[in-house]
Amino acid sequence: MRIEGDASLEELPNFSSMLCNNDGKIVVDLQFDLDEQRIRTIKGSAKGHVFMTCQRCLEPVEVAVEASYNLATAFSEEQAKTLPRGYDPLITAEEEVELLAVVEEELILSLPLVPGHADCSIQTSFGEPETAEKDTDQSNPFRVLAQLKADKTSN
Ligand SMILES: [Zn+2]
Repeated sequence: MRIEGDASLEELPNFSSMLCNNDGKIVVDLQFDLDEQRIRTIKGSAKGHVFMTCQRCLEPVEVAVEASYNLATAFSEEQAKTLPRGYDPLITAEEEVELLAVVEEELILSLPLVPGHADCSIQTSFGEPETAEKDTDQSNPFRVLAQLKADKTSN
């Protein structure tokens, strides 16, 4: 079985709660198979673009997202340990997999931690010149020593 098509952001509430609006678009392409060991696998991708709040100017910024899936279903932790390497275990107590929840989780992980426009014109606090760093720090013994030494050589 194969699922291919657009997922609406309304169907992905956890994911869309990270976004600033629901104007984005996610295309899901998932292939369901039984592998040679009769393990149920889900492979594929979810990708598209969404809008997050720029952390500098607080305006929406378009963000590309792409998540890939290489899952094998297991019905218990025990069974998950027996899965071949290379698969991410998907433990499902029941036969029915909450697929959208899995799709959402990977999409959330693919979001940038600090979204922002690449050419955002608003200055960040990181970009401000350091005004605090002056010769007022007399409590630093190394600095005091360096100053004494400098005074000696200049005399
Ligand atoms: Zn910005």
